[in-house]
Amino acid sequence: METIDHDALVAMLDRLKLTAIRDQLDTLLDEAARSDMTLREALGFLVSREIARRDERRIEMATKLAQFPFVRELEGFEWAAQPSVDQRQIRELATCRWIAHGDALLFLGPPGTGKTHLAVSLGRAAIRHNYSVQFVTAATLVATLAKAHGDGRLDEQLTIYARPKLLIIDELGYLPFEPDAAHLFFQLVSRRYERGSMMVTSNRSVVEWGTVFGDPVVATAILDRLLHHCSVITIRGDSYRLREKRRAGLLQKAGTAHEQQAENVNQ
Ligand code: ADP
Ligand code: MG
Repeated sequence: METIDHDALVAMLDRLKLTAIRDQLDTLLDEAARSDMTLREALGFLVSREIARRDERRIEMATKLAQFPFVRELEGFEWAAQPSVDQRQIRELATCRWIAHGDALLFLGPPGTGKTHLAVSLGRAAIRHNYSVQFVTAATLVATLAKAHGDGRLDEQLTIYARPKLLIIDELGYLPFEPDAAHLFFQLVSRRYERGSMMVTSNRSVVEWGTVFGDPVVATAILDRLLHHCSVITIRGDSYRLREKRRAGLLQKAGTAHEQQAENVNQ
């Protein structure tokens, strides 16, 4: 076999778009040589590096496209602060089997209780599992559909929102919808029904959705489809933000009590 010099090797890796191997060629080959790998092991080692880089890039790109409002992970969720959330159930949801089945997921609860935090964390888990994800607030979603409707592009816009495997609709019910909203939302839910998963967060219980949509009949039709294969997670309890503030207050008091005790000991 003819000897292959460094540049020729780089050119071949380039042609095959094996860019991770190309960029770290010497380091990787040194490492393979140093650890006495067999040829099979060395090949596996090189290819796994290439795959790892591609996964990283894919996740980065998909995360940008998803348009999350912030970065949150389940690891950062303080379970003890929200006892009404079943950690095991959320961890099961993070395996994304429900997305494979095209099921829906609903987070209900008052403001500040971690609905968006959990939604974003599960959305990021979905991306790691190779699902396409789009995050949008209910207000933006409806405004976008209404505008598209006005411009005669509703079908096109519905297709866009139907494309991601998981569509996360945040903050349903914070703002009252315009009269057309119920129908537009219904069309979206119908379009996605049994095709892709939807995750919805809302501060209003489902019995109030008639009021949210301003049309109880359409709200029932929306819920009928959404709840068909759906996990509903109802979070009860206090706002995490307020809790933090309150706890800060408590800690101050505890500090004072501690100081008092210390003073008593000193006396
Ligand atoms: P919601 O969407 O229910 O209004 P968020 O998810 O936006 O609430 O939570 C408000 C803030 O508090 C966010 O920054 C979130 O990360 C944080 N948060 C809420 N609940 C928890 C929790 N149990 N552990 C850690 N952070 C939390
Ligand atoms: Mg929120």
